[in-house]
Amino acid sequence: MDEAWAILRQARRFQQQAPERRLSGRRLLLLFYEPSTRTRTSFEVAARRLGAETVSVTAQSSSIEKGESLLDTVYTLQAMAVDGIVIRHAASGAPHLVARNVHSTVINAGDGMHEHPTQALLDGYTLWRHFGRLEGLEIAIVGDILHSRVARSNLLLLTQLGARVRLCGPRTLLPPALAEAYGPRVRATYRLEDALDAVDAVMVLRLQMERMQAGFFPNEAEYAREYGLTPERLRLASPQALVMHPGPMIRGVEISAEVADSPQSVIREQVENGVLIRMAVLDRLLGQTAAQGAPAMMAKG
Ligand code: ASP
Repeated sequence: MDEAWAILRQARRFQQQAPERRLSGRRLLLLFYEPSTRTRTSFEVAARRLGAETVSVTAQSSSIEKGESLLDTVYTLQAMAVDGIVIRHAASGAPHLVARNVHSTVINAGDGMHEHPTQALLDGYTLWRHFGRLEGLEIAIVGDILHSRVARSNLLLLTQLGARVRLCGPRTLLPPALAEAYGPRVRATYRLEDALDAVDAVMVLRLQMERMQAGFFPNEAEYAREYGLTPERLRLASPQALVMHPGPMIRGVEISAEVADSPQSVIREQVENGVLIRMAVLDRLLGQTAAQGAPAMMAKG
C-alpha cells in the first residue's frame, strides 16, 4: 500500500502547486473500447497538464469496429512509438493481456466487472482530503455491487488503507461470497437503513444495465423505493457524511436530485480529484519509465 500512499501524496502535491511539464515528449495512447466521458477526458487533461501528448482511439472510430483483434490493434498502435497505453475494455483482464504482450506501460482504465484502479484512488483521495485519514472510516457502498469494478477496486484499496466497508444492495446484486472475499473489514447488508447508520461516506453505484442479461430487480421504481438515496435516508448517516458517485449517475433511480446536489455531495469534486490522481499515476509510471528505461505496469489495482 506504500504505492497507493505515494500516489495520494503526489496528487496532493499537484493540487498545491501547478506542476512543470515533466512528461514533455512522452506519448500516451488512450484506447477506449467502452463508452467513457469522465475517465477518458480526465486522463487526457492530466497527460496534457504534464506536457505529454495524447492519441485517442475509441471503438466507434477505428478498425476495432471492423473486428480487428485487441492485440492486433495494440501492436499496430504501438508501432507509432507510444510510451504508455491507457485501456478500457468490457472484458475483465484485457489490460493484463495487453501488458503481457507490449513493452509500453499499460494503465487499466476499467476492465469489465474486474477493476477500475484510478477510480478507487480518486475516491480514496477525496475521502483523505476531507477527513485527513482513512483509518477507521466507515464507508457504505450501495447498489449494483455484482457488476461493479468500482466497488471491487474500492474494496481492495479502502480496506488496505484502514477503512471499513459496508456493502448494500438487493440480494441478486450482492452475492454474500463477494463481501467475504475481502476480509473482516467488509460486511454485507440488504437493508439500506443498516448500511447508512452513522457512516462517514456513502458511495452510490449505477445500475450497470449493460452487464445484466436477466432481471436482477423488478423495475427502476421498485429499486428506487428500496435503495434510492433520498434526503430522509441520508439523515441516518453521520452529519458530515460525504455523498459520492463515480458517475454517470441516474438521478431519481439510485440517487435523488436533491441528494446529488446537496452540500454533502462531493460528486463534482471527485471529477476534479480524478485529474490529480491520474496526473500522479502518469507521472509515476511514465516518469519512471523515462528515468529507468524500463517499462512499468499498472494493469492491476
Ligand atoms: N464510470 C464507472 C465505470 O466505468 C462507473 C459506471 O460506469 O457506472 O465503471
